[in-house]
Amino acid sequence: MTGIYAENSEGIFKKAVLEAASYASQISNGQVTAVCVGTPNAGEAEKLAQYGVTKLICIDGISAFDAQVYGNEVAKVMSSNGISQVVVANTYEAKSIAPRIAVLMNASMATNVIALPDTSTGFKVKRAAFSGKGFAYVTLDRANKLIAITPNSTELKEQPVSIATETISGSGSGKTTITSTSKAAGKIPLTEAEVVVSAGRGMKGPENWGMVEELADLLGAATACSKPVSDMGWRPHGEHVGQTGITIKPNLYIAIGISGAIQHLAGVSSSKVIVAINKDPEAPFFKAADYGIVGDAFEVIPQLIQAAKAAKN
Ligand SMILES: Cc1cc2nc3c(=O)[nH]c(=O)nc-3n(C[C@H](O)[C@H](O)[C@H](O)COP(=O)(O)OP(=O)(O)OC[C@H]3O[C@@H](n4cnc5c(N)ncnc54)[C@H](O)[C@@H]3O)c2cc1C
Repeated sequence: MTGIYAENSEGIFKKAVLEAASYASQISNGQVTAVCVGTPNAGEAEKLAQYGVTKLICIDGISAFDAQVYGNEVAKVMSSNGISQVVVANTYEAKSIAPRIAVLMNASMATNVIALPDTSTGFKVKRAAFSGKGFAYVTLDRANKLIAITPNSTELKEQPVSIATETISGSGSGKTTITSTSKAAGKIPLTEAEVVVSAGRGMKGPENWGMVEELADLLGAATACSKPVSDMGWRPHGEHVGQTGITIKPNLYIAIGISGAIQHLAGVSSSKVIVAINKDPEAPFFKAADYGIVGDAFEVIPQLIQAAKAAKN
């Protein structure tokens, strides 16, 4: 049996969870059980059903996120439902509970998985390694398996089925208490954005970000930045991408006034298409980019804004 951990954000299953559902249904024998903590909003179970999930089990009665409690509860439900293959999306939340689930289920585990398994000899998965600069092929030997897939790296294949929903009571109290939460400022969550407009120190100062935001709005994109930009307080830390920031894999990454240091590329080099805009033709980013514009950002961005507006009209 195949299962997924269906992380929900305020009752909503995001795209990464639907990708996990789609992946699970492609490696299952037709039965996929999703396990979530809390109560999803109306219509959310049906979203999972579009991608082959036949059963949704909601664990009720656990208030705030605690990796230990969630890990224990989810592993218990997976095991008692005969699930041997668990698929999770490689999100921060799922990453913090996946190793616990794997230990409790005595499962082989692979993270950063980017393709369906090759089952011709055993169960071999392809995973991204060295911050996306290489690949590793890993064979999961144990009967129980946990596969954490990288968002935006696998196909979302519709496989509509009907879904049964069951709610059970959870137990256990955590050792941590969430005292307050705050939301990232961007309108589109960075990790889910199909298009990201990112800018670096070449923008000179925070007062110049208006044009970056305008371009992002026109393209339906999230905004991101390099590390020094968030370190200097020009932009919020939630926008910092790279080795020490968020790793993203959008379909289109536009880098403006960013040099392309290896630590920055580590978080963005798996983007499907990269466009670099830099006034220095020798900027390292051009080696990693699919398209490059050599020019002053303060001249290029307004032209891109004009072009985007014209295309919209
Ligand atoms: C351990 C470690 C971890 C790190 N982690 C990260 C990380 O996670 N993410 C990250 O981003 N960095 C990280 N860094 C820092 C990284 O090494 C670089 O210093 C940083 O990415 C540079 O940021 P930048 O490209 O915005 O700035 P700069 O290196 O100053 O580059 C600015 C670029 O803008 C161009 N430019 C200037 N003016 C214009 C203009 N008018 N129009 C167009 N282009 C212009 C310049 O030619 C230049 O290429 C890390 C460093 C270390 C040591």
